[in-house]
Amino acid sequence: MEIMELLGSCHLCPRECGVNRLAGERGFCGLAGSGVRVARAALHFWEEPCISGENGSGTVFFAGCTLRCLFCQNQAISRGEAGVEIPVERLTEIFLELEQKGAANINLVTPTHYLPQIVTALDRAREAGLSLPVVYNTSGYERPEMLRLLEGRVDIYLPDAKYASEELAGSFSHAADYPRVLLPTLDEMVRQTGTPVFDENGMMRKGTIIRHLALPGQGADSRRLLRLLYERYGEQVYFSIMSQYTPPSAPLPVESLNRKLSRREYDRLLDYAISLGMEQAFIQEGGAASESFIPPFDLEGVEKSPPSEQMS
Ligand code: SF4
Repeated sequence: MEIMELLGSCHLCPRECGVNRLAGERGFCGLAGSGVRVARAALHFWEEPCISGENGSGTVFFAGCTLRCLFCQNQAISRGEAGVEIPVERLTEIFLELEQKGAANINLVTPTHYLPQIVTALDRAREAGLSLPVVYNTSGYERPEMLRLLEGRVDIYLPDAKYASEELAGSFSHAADYPRVLLPTLDEMVRQTGTPVFDENGMMRKGTIIRHLALPGQGADSRRLLRLLYERYGEQVYFSIMSQYTPPSAPLPVESLNRKLSRREYDRLLDYAISLGMEQAFIQEGGAASESFIPPFDLEGVEKSPPSEQMS
């Protein structure tokens, strides 16, 4: 079976809508067709230091999402409003162009719903000489069966781990099954990458970094989740405990989500992580809750440059 045929009955994510996207049908994510919608493809400096390095991570921001988080930090693209649709052939070129620009890696942001197109483009780019590590930067709402198609193609997994509680996952992200599917998803990622490997410059070459964005007012769930994950994966992964939550401009029905995370809440969570014995973790310094972490979705690098601007 050709991998693109998976779009003919879409079961790419745990929602398993079964729609024929190739025939124009749309499931929960609202996407149809064989192309990909991309909002930006550029060097990005705001990932963990071992991903961004000094040159920047070659980051492709895909539009659309299989979750619908109330507090989404990237709404312009998650709702599919930003970006333009491009064919797989152009995605292949973008990967190669990012390598020419000096990117440390190819960083696929919110790739789940485009897995067949991404695999096709990556295979073609590898044939054309792409040599960078590939980072799969995801919400964590995945199907292990689909991730197995990425084995040998993805070097670094960068999944979110959002909730331990089904109630929170249901009311905040319309995905009550998120905690149930998260562990098999992470198991598969860790199985593929093994324990983290870094090069002589401290850049990650292989491994899994589990990210947790601490939400204001939800410390108990954060602590429960970190404990569960640390007990399961220990030193097999790195953790990234993030404080950069930014409240959306329109007020939300959950009062605590309308403010930033307090310094006290974040420090308490870090103290808890230390008390568990967690040492392999990235943390954020004060002032991280800024929109500067959200890049402009201005189509940089998406459309083909005129020949005079192309790099030789
Ligand atoms: S990727 Fe979209 S269409 Fe496919 S199963 Fe997930 S939500 Fe449904």
